Amino acid sequence: MRDPFGREITYLRVSVTDRCDLRCVYCMAEEMTFLPKAELLTLEELERVSAAFIRLGVRKIRLTGGEPLVRRDVMRLVRGLGARIGHGLDELTVTTNGSQLTRFAGDLAAAGVRRINVSLDTLDPAKFTAITRWGRIEKTLDGIFAAKAAGLAIKINAVALKGVNEDELDRMVAWCGEHGFDLCLIETMPMGDIDGDRTDQYLPLSIVRARLAKSWTLTETDYATGGPARYVNVGETGQRIGFITPMTHNFCESCNRVRLTCTGTMYMCLGQDDAADLRTPLRASGDDAALEAAILEAIERKPKGHDFVIDRRRNRPAVARHMSLTGG
Ligand code: SAM
Ligand code: SF4
Repeated sequence: MRDPFGREITYLRVSVTDRCDLRCVYCMAEEMTFLPKAELLTLEELERVSAAFIRLGVRKIRLTGGEPLVRRDVMRLVRGLGARIGHGLDELTVTTNGSQLTRFAGDLAAAGVRRINVSLDTLDPAKFTAITRWGRIEKTLDGIFAAKAAGLAIKINAVALKGVNEDELDRMVAWCGEHGFDLCLIETMPMGDIDGDRTDQYLPLSIVRARLAKSWTLTETDYATGGPARYVNVGETGQRIGFITPMTHNFCESCNRVRLTCTGTMYMCLGQDDAADLRTPLRASGDDAALEAAILEAIERKPKGHDFVIDRRRNRPAVARHMSLTGG
């Protein structure tokens, strides 16, 4: 699949649920209205759409959400997709908040998952509870170490938050180095209504990187995971730090991905509203010709890029939907 700008589309992110057991302040409002269960694709349908994408050239799938591991029976989907590794699919990964990993880490590894991303913005228990509104850090840390014990490679995702975790990032680099985890830092993106003011949270990673360079020997690397992060090696720890900078550097020119929501809507860009309905062609017939045609037609509409800006005057999100719907 090639889009109008010549980019080959090989990466699908599937948001398997918009629900979550946490309420991170930059991601959700405290009182969220979730999608009615009747609107969700079944796990079988999600697998069928994913299989169509694989036939059309997708080689990497990431399951995300919401919290993917809170969807009932999600391991059925993981096993189904895992069985396709080596048969069109190169890699299956998961992005999770870690809260269910003590239960699922072994099953994920057995299904063929080799790498996971776990979101952890702080190592401070009180701050963790404040950021997630009601989470407990122990659960996530236990999950992370269960995943490590199961042999999964771990990348820690941390959103850089002004005045919240910016003083801790050195410590997190050290902690990740100690345990053999890569670290990926993310700028906050203006997606969906939250309860607070986003301009209060936004911290440019150019500043973070300059500060980290005072304590660590950072060298550029061309390491790439097919995602938007730019990586540096950390001389002292031997691990990597990735920077995802949608606000200060637009990485769209190399975008290779599209997204599927749990209702069967395909988004061609995280930062744009244009979408394609795949649920109707999926349910219209048991043969996937119409579904594949709808996917290919949508790829033709993939926009050149996002244009996230924080609207400081009106403080309105750039896109109305939450990250948990499209899948971060
Ligand atoms: N619940 C899982 C988790 O937290 O890893 C998966 C979904 S979550 C939406 C995926 C990633 O998006 C997380 O690393 C989270 O920190 C990030 N995220 C959520 N809202 C964001 C925002 N407004 N700006 C930047 N990153 C955001
Ligand atoms: Fe849930 Fe992940 Fe959003 Fe936090 S970032 S509220 S864990 S979906």
